[in-house]
Amino acid sequence: MSPIISTGPLPAISLSEPFPAQKNRQDAGQEISIYIHVPFCRSRCSYCDFFLVTRLDYIEAFFRALAIETLAAAPLLKSCRVKAVHFGGGTPSLVPVRLLAGWLDLAASLAVFPSGMEIALEANPEDLGGRVMEDLRAAGFNRISLGVQSYRPRKLSALGRRHSAEDALTITLAAQQWFDSVSVDLICGVPGETLEEWRGDLQAALAATVPHLSVYMLSVEPKTVLERTVAKGLVTVPEEGDQASMYLEAIERLCAQGYRHYEVSNFAVSGHHSRYNLACWMREPYLGLGPSAHSFLVREGVEMRRANAGSLLRYLADPAGCTVFNETLSDQERFVEHVFLSLRINRGLDVGFLGKHNKLGLNLPELFAQFSAKGWISIENGSLYLTAKGFLFADHIAGALVSA
Ligand code: SF4
Repeated sequence: MSPIISTGPLPAISLSEPFPAQKNRQDAGQEISIYIHVPFCRSRCSYCDFFLVTRLDYIEAFFRALAIETLAAAPLLKSCRVKAVHFGGGTPSLVPVRLLAGWLDLAASLAVFPSGMEIALEANPEDLGGRVMEDLRAAGFNRISLGVQSYRPRKLSALGRRHSAEDALTITLAAQQWFDSVSVDLICGVPGETLEEWRGDLQAALAATVPHLSVYMLSVEPKTVLERTVAKGLVTVPEEGDQASMYLEAIERLCAQGYRHYEVSNFAVSGHHSRYNLACWMREPYLGLGPSAHSFLVREGVEMRRANAGSLLRYLADPAGCTVFNETLSDQERFVEHVFLSLRINRGLDVGFLGKHNKLGLNLPELFAQFSAKGWISIENGSLYLTAKGFLFADHIAGALVSA
């Protein structure tokens, strides 16, 4: 099977679609995506601060709770056509395939699962040996996102990853025989990493003809093993400027090879973008299930964000009643989200629209001039776009434009 199978072109992102662009897309039988947060990992990687537990003996109980929460969402799902299902975490590939398949059967009995919809799983290479990929495919998964992080032994060991460089490459190649779309996560800016080493990782991914890549710059998060080792002076992370050079190298190399840089960290060959992630960035509705999962729902034109408690025990005790945050968005909040998310996917921010919503009286022409002088933005046909360098400052620029 060809490693690059087109699943349709990346949707054209309208440059003229002004805020508020949100139609009642979730009402009246519309599309929704579903995210399931699977909060289990075998061990915690040195840099990771995600919500997760290492008690794998709770997995069965978690899936019983997930079924309860899913059934409670039946009235909402009943009117929906599902665009994408995304199992994230954590490490969803730790879960026996029969549990994943059981949940898909349940959800498909509650909502419309159109043929060709995206069903994606985040996976670590060490979980995909034997018949697992074949079984996942048989269960309906057509996209897999591999937590490779690096193809180099030294980097994998510095990150505390459990797989070997050889396994990472073997699984990257094998996955392309089983799934329509394969994505690989890579991290740059690991302690001791040089630009040359990073080029080696990019080259390995390109040689493996991976159709989708997510490139992250390592950040030292509070309360992680990495933070403690950096604080003790045992390791040093590359300087910000060196890390930025690695990121810019990725943009240049990948775009030169035909990848579309469709989000700050994401690159896709035509048709291989993540439908679930793009839906979130385009402010389309999604339902989040599981502890700490977030939802964005639209009812009769009213937009809501909601979040579950980040506690597995609380979730197991009351899976359908552990919402800790439920907020209707004001016009100002919708505006701020629109600006931040539009810049992330570089869809072009209409300058006239920014002026219309400039309630704080910001001197926008001066801001545009400052950002242009730094080489961060360009203004084309009345819309603002980030440059490659500007992606490094996307949140800073968005914050300045809304004075957040
Ligand atoms: S596998 Fe992913 S989620 Fe799990 S600890 Fe490592 S980085 Fe965090």
